[in-house]
Amino acid sequence: MKFRLFLLLLITMFPALNAATLRCVQCNKVIRGRYFTSGGKAYCSETCIEKTWPKCSLCGKHFRNGVQLSDDPGKVFCSDCAAKPQCFSCRLPADCEKLDDGRTLCRECYQRAVFKYEEALEIFNEVRSRLKQELELGTEHRIHFQLVSLPELERRSRETGSGAGIELGLFYHNFTEVTRTTESVLPWHKPKTEVIRTNERFAIYVLYGMPREKLIEICAHELAHDWMQAKYPAIINLKIKEGWAEYVASKANRLFGNESLNRRIELNPDPIYGNGYREIVKYVTDHGKSGLYDYFASLNQNHSAAGQRVK
Ligand SMILES: [Zn+2]
Ligand SMILES: [Zn+2]
Ligand SMILES: [Zn+2]
Ligand SMILES: [Zn+2]
Repeated sequence: MKFRLFLLLLITMFPALNAATLRCVQCNKVIRGRYFTSGGKAYCSETCIEKTWPKCSLCGKHFRNGVQLSDDPGKVFCSDCAAKPQCFSCRLPADCEKLDDGRTLCRECYQRAVFKYEEALEIFNEVRSRLKQELELGTEHRIHFQLVSLPELERRSRETGSGAGIELGLFYHNFTEVTRTTESVLPWHKPKTEVIRTNERFAIYVLYGMPREKLIEICAHELAHDWMQAKYPAIINLKIKEGWAEYVASKANRLFGNESLNRRIELNPDPIYGNGYREIVKYVTDHGKSGLYDYFASLNQNHSAAGQRVK
């Protein structure tokens, strides 16, 4: 999303009437002769006015017309820098490295990117155990963990047909339902039928090449889906599911000392992910964590009672 910042500057030149006492508000030099005004203030030169303009977050140059590419209003770019490729992880324009699957990563993110499966698995296991121990969010599921490319993640997301959009990871849960009929030994009793689940499989897929701290956030998000699946499997409301996953991701960012990543989560304009997150936060503020779990339980019951497919 692009926002254009237009800075309305009125630059006029006036002959200095009271030259002896007039000083440039930027450099404090005494102004003699002609000077410039902007916003009712006096400047000795155009260079001094330019210094009051916003600074490009990438090249550091001051500009009049800039672009805000991310949700962070503190990150603005001159038009030259805004035209550079965008980093897949931090979403900011930069001189990027290109990955095998076509994604681009800025050098800063690339330096901390995780490509090795063993390293990623270690991070996944650490996130899982800390969520369990410190936030009491854990399951006993045997989760298959895998690093994948972007096309593969997109293909798997489409196949699963779950979620509100393409994420940087995917939680996958599948099973086969079998109807079992048990004949009673007593001929006047009706045969008993029950639906049982077999072949239950859990998997979490995440993109390779994500910076370590981003990988932590993605793992936490997907593990939150796993927890909800175990505790409240009948909840189908995407805003609740994704809002909860983003909420847990923000908790993990705090646990691991990566709180700066929460800016994206908090300011996310997305109606499912962003609004969902903010609704969960508000619910916890108003009713506490146990209140939130009661709410989940009621949603779970309503959805089950409505006969919706348990998935
Ligand atoms: Zn000046
Ligand atoms: Zn720039
Ligand atoms: Zn980056
Ligand atoms: Zn999700």
